[in-house]
Amino acid sequence: MGTFERGVERLRRCRVRRVGGRIVAEHRLVWEAHRGSIPEGMAIHHVNGDNRDNRIENLQLVTPAEHRHIHAGYELQDGVWHKRCRTCGQTKPLSEFYRYCYYPYDGAIPACKPCHRQACRDRQRALRDQRRSLCATGVKNDKAKGDRT
Ligand SMILES: [Zn+2]
Ligand SMILES: [Zn+2]
Repeated sequence: MGTFERGVERLRRCRVRRVGGRIVAEHRLVWEAHRGSIPEGMAIHHVNGDNRDNRIENLQLVTPAEHRHIHAGYELQDGVWHKRCRTCGQTKPLSEFYRYCYYPYDGAIPACKPCHRQACRDRQRALRDQRRSLCATGVKNDKAKGDRT
């Protein structure tokens, strides 16, 4: 019963149909009616992102890995996964992004390599300026003290 409820919950965002007492996602039925049976383990993706739009032209057969990539905001262009840089807004191949294991999903950071390098340089410069201004005030205080004695 528990697993049944969870299954329904998972399917709630797309249209479902009852087939012989089983609940089946409608987009899978539409796909099978047009393109034949769905290979074991494959997923059906809604191209326009609307999980209730089950027109065959809105459906795409994908592997689970491809499906995760698509929903993580990746785009497949000429067989290479691309991602949009959050800083410059350009869509670039994944190899143009540094990866850090603590970033969610696959570790690719939101900014492309050039943007990330620029951000690092800016941060270092800001730190350097901050340190320099701290030193400067320190020197001034010392001098003030020195003048008094
Ligand atoms: Zn999808
Ligand atoms: Zn960028």
